[in-house]
Amino acid sequence: MQDHSNRLAALRSRVRDQPFYVSALPNIRYLTGFTGSAGHLLVTRDQATLFTDSRYSTQAREQVSSAAVRISRGDARPELVAEAKKLRLKRLRFEANRIDYGTYAYLGSQLPGCRLMPVDSVVEKLRQIKSGSEIAAIRNSLALNSASFEDVINRLDARWSEAEVAAELEFAMRKRGAEGAAFPTIVASGEHGARPHAEPRDQRIEPQALVVVDQGAILGGYCSDMTRMIALGDPGAAQKALVRAVLEAQAAAIDAIRPGVECRTVDGRARDVLKKTHVGGVRLDELFVHSTGHGLGLEIHEGPRIAPGQRQRLRQGMVVTIEPGVYLDGVAGVRIEDVVAVTAGGCEVLTGTPRELRVL
Ligand code: ZN
Ligand code: ZN
Repeated sequence: MQDHSNRLAALRSRVRDQPFYVSALPNIRYLTGFTGSAGHLLVTRDQATLFTDSRYSTQAREQVSSAAVRISRGDARPELVAEAKKLRLKRLRFEANRIDYGTYAYLGSQLPGCRLMPVDSVVEKLRQIKSGSEIAAIRNSLALNSASFEDVINRLDARWSEAEVAAELEFAMRKRGAEGAAFPTIVASGEHGARPHAEPRDQRIEPQALVVVDQGAILGGYCSDMTRMIALGDPGAAQKALVRAVLEAQAAAIDAIRPGVECRTVDGRARDVLKKTHVGGVRLDELFVHSTGHGLGLEIHEGPRIAPGQRQRLRQGMVVTIEPGVYLDGVAGVRIEDVVAVTAGGCEVLTGTPRELRVL
């Protein structure tokens, strides 16, 4: 595929044609199309070679055209080492944030004449800028995710536990063709919602409780991520005011997104809105305990980070979530999350589901 060759060319230019060992599977997928669960990629100025084992011989030859494929019996690392020796590599850059210590030690002992040089997030930085076909894939994943949400919300049974709602959502994704959930689905009602990464309980949803539903699918390798608020009855004015404040914070952050803007500025816009609202003497921004958003693509969490102190500037083609939340210990949590693509003139929200609280 032309895309993969172009990406390999971009990587070579980024490392000035120095030999590069790619160990992270999502990065290997990005550069070659290979989706197997074991593989090593060696990229030099003149060639790229994927080393994998005999479980993947058919699959690798089917999927990979941008690199040569070498199949070994069992562990593929000895083949990688043999190739590095054959090429008489004096230096080999590796992914410092992705390698496991066993592999690092193995390469060090097997390649005594080769200097191993750590580099950080080289392929990940390329991946931050999505192509048109990648944005289309994320859009498809989001559409499937939204359809699964609608399906389950419209037939939600008040007797279902949080865990059953989460299971229904994941089943609905799979039935629509998703490879799986992008992360364990969160369904957290009432005070349980005050934990941003709550695990669904074997417990029914109380009437009038606010429920955080955070779900994402993987389709064609690309992740979606969406959080919506639902309730099985009117949750009352105070809780609805919380939802309104988070909606306003999210809208302010999205409004700030355009090429050239620093990530911390977008994050700050959401916090500024929450600063203006108090609950029981506490400012809502003090209850916003995580960052405003993250990039996503082949992985659910990618760069850039939309967080305090992040001076990285947004660029056209980046795709990020915007997901402010407030968490009132012992009471409730509110989070609303959409996926936004940075365009030439500003941004486009890719999530189709309406953002407002859904009272069922
Ligand atoms: Zn999410
Ligand atoms: Zn997210």
